[in-house]
Amino acid sequence: MFDLTDRVAIITGGNGGVGLGMAGGLAHAGASIVIVGRNAAKNAAAVAKIQDMCLDVPVMSLVADITDKEACFGMVKQVEDSFGRVDILINNAGISVRKLPQDHTLEDWNRVQNTNLTGAFLCAQAVYPVMKHCGGGKIINIGSLMALFGNHFSAANGASKGGLVQLTKTLACAWAPDNIQVNAILPGWIDTDLTRAASQEVPGLRDKVLTRIPAARAGTIDDLAGVAVFLASDVADYITGTAIPVDGGYSAFG
Ligand code: NDP
Repeated sequence: MFDLTDRVAIITGGNGGVGLGMAGGLAHAGASIVIVGRNAAKNAAAVAKIQDMCLDVPVMSLVADITDKEACFGMVKQVEDSFGRVDILINNAGISVRKLPQDHTLEDWNRVQNTNLTGAFLCAQAVYPVMKHCGGGKIINIGSLMALFGNHFSAANGASKGGLVQLTKTLACAWAPDNIQVNAILPGWIDTDLTRAASQEVPGLRDKVLTRIPAARAGTIDDLAGVAVFLASDVADYITGTAIPVDGGYSAFG
């Protein structure tokens, strides 16, 4: 039911963290994997990690900065030239700035919006004609619980992720007639470079978050793999415009 053989998947920010976990899941389900990131060395290491799983699926990486429109469209063109199709796009690349709202610079604000929201929009725009030509596709946007909750230091990040959830609904409505399903995943606390940096910048943050996770543990990058495969597969063909928390119950806790 979850077979992704012959499907081609682009994972932005797939060279580490949550993106690498989802890339591994899609590879296990048989998809061809294209990892996109700015850092060529991290890209190469991620490709090697997936190849080490001996799954016999094509894996490649492309260097692209998703804040650059030409880079997004060029990246998708390269994938189309290599594989002849794009079936799955995971808009996962993301950054965060942790400061009180009054301390955000305009540069901080723009950098976060350009990566988390505009970058996702540009990649979706770039894959749309290819997916339409292929008869459909799946776009999965990686939001955050910050799309649901506020806190003191996530003005830029929270606004970008809230926007990404609304973008998910809009694209889902607009592209449903083209058989393109668009959904979002909202990760809770997943141990990655991003949250390691957050723990250093905000002392005690990880412990504070852990105390209200009913599952009583932080997430791992593999915790995102199953939901990514599910949303990317045919079983989710009638699911579009949703945002699914993957958070060990954090968002359910009163
Ligand atoms: P990481 O910092 O580990 O990974 C971020 C990835 O994004 C890297 O692969 C990085 O690659 C890539 N990236 C950043 N900017 C760009 C860009 N301009 N162009 C292309 N690639 C870019 O973070 P996580 O794995 O933790 O986060 C992944 C996603 O999950 C993000 O959207 C984040 O907001 C979201 N998330 C994560 C949570 C968590 O607990 N970890 C919680 C909620 C949401 P490179 O540096 O090579 O460009």
